[in-house]
Amino acid sequence: MDRTRHNPAFCRLPAAACMIVPPLIQFLRRSRVLKVLLTEIEIQAGIEALAKRLDAEYRGRPLTVLGVLTGSLIFLADLIRRMDFPLRVGLIQASSYRGTATLPGALEIHDAGLPILEGRDVLLLDDIFDTGQTLSHLVQHVERQRPHSLRSAVLLWKIGRQRVEITPDYYCFRIPDVFVVGYGLDYHDDYRHLPHVAALDEEDLG
Ligand code: 5GP
Ligand code: MG
Repeated sequence: MDRTRHNPAFCRLPAAACMIVPPLIQFLRRSRVLKVLLTEIEIQAGIEALAKRLDAEYRGRPLTVLGVLTGSLIFLADLIRRMDFPLRVGLIQASSYRGTATLPGALEIHDAGLPILEGRDVLLLDDIFDTGQTLSHLVQHVERQRPHSLRSAVLLWKIGRQRVEITPDYYCFRIPDVFVVGYGLDYHDDYRHLPHVAALDEEDLG
């Protein structure tokens, strides 16, 4: 939806300005420089390879894939459609979002509606492993539900930023230390829908 067009502030502008201003704002928002890091084809190949590994390791076991909202949504949807055995899906919300600041703020976890994890093999799925603090907190949180086993998988793992002991059990891609968007990852709630992963130019951050 074009949010600028529905903004009441624009309704007070003369008609001609109403025609020009919203598209202009839209253009400026879109004119941030995005450098494609991973194409749609590369991402899908990475997910296919991960699905094959998981198929081999979990087939016949009571797997629950637990997606971390909101960034893992698209990764989750693409991955589970390639896993050819019965599994359950759950969602957990964790936000430490700090725009593009280099260190995360306090982490909030919302787990209302979490399926029963006790006795299940659980695969925690997140979009990106950066400092690792989100994953580390989530692992401790999920451990309290006494799953039979708990492993983690991420789409992206940023090189050189880790600040915790644990690392993801599975990952699709290592990426350099740049701020990325697309394929579920956002910048100010935009860009999640892109089919590829792109780096935002330094000048456009902040
Ligand atoms: P960590 O706790 O590992 O430092 O950060 C994990 C969370 O921070 C991710 O789930 C994601 O929400 C956010 N994050 C870290 N790096 C990036 C990035 O480059 N781009 C975006 N959009 N989010 C990021
Ligand atoms: Mg996240």
